[in-house]
Order: sequence, then structure tokens, then C-alpha cells
Amino acid sequence: MTLAVPTEDFDCQTCGACCSYSEDWPRFSLETDEELDQIPAEYVSADLGGMRCPDNRCSALSGTLGVHVGCKIYAVRPIVCRTCMPGDDECLMARQKLSQTVLL
Ligand code: SF4
Ligand code: SF4
Repeated sequence: MTLAVPTEDFDCQTCGACCSYSEDWPRFSLETDEELDQIPAEYVSADLGGMRCPDNRCSALSGTLGVHVGCKIYAVRPIVCRTCMPGDDECLMARQKLSQTVLL
């Protein structure tokens, strides 16, 4: 019996698509004020409702899309970032959108 092998590589550290496809994605939801206070103000949007995302890319994302990326506030990142899992619907949507411009 042959097991199916995933054809896609969901290595987040060489991706970054979900952090870079929409300014409406890394929005705050059920975070407490104490949790939000942990996020440096320079990375927060003007309306204080989410992460600041110039050109749809989260300002807390470091590195080069599709090559090597990292989250500068990983330990205190918003809930939506914690719940997005490699291979889930949001991940696939983000990768699909970014694949038009970046090789993922
Ligand atoms: S969750 Fe998906 S879209 Fe986000 S960085 Fe990981 S592989 Fe890329
Ligand atoms: S806070 Fe971190 S994990 Fe969340 S979108 Fe920004 S770079 Fe990505």
C-alpha cells in the first residue's frame, strides 16, 4: 500500500503568504487589552483594530516572501495568526493569491 504524499510544502518560514495578502487579515478579535499592549505600537494599524499592513504586508513580518520570513512579534502575535494552520482554508487562499507574484 502506498501512502499519499502531500505535494505542497507548507513550511511557514519559507512562505509568509498569510502575513502578506490582505490588510484585513491580521485584525484583532478576542485579545485582551493586556495582550494588545504587548504589541509594539509601530506595528499596529492607525485604527488600532489590527496589524499595520502597508501594501497588504504585515509590518511585523521580516524577511523575503517565498524565501525566508519571520514574525517579529511571534510570542505576542494576534489570535488570527495563532489559529491559521499550514494547509487550512486561509493558508490555501493566501498562498493562491500570493502565488500570482511570488513562487511558493
Ligand atoms: S500558514 Fe500557510 S500561508 Fe501562512 S506562512 Fe504558513 S504555509 Fe504560508
Ligand atoms: S503578526 Fe506576525 S504572524 Fe501575524 S500577520 Fe504579522 S507577521 Fe504574520
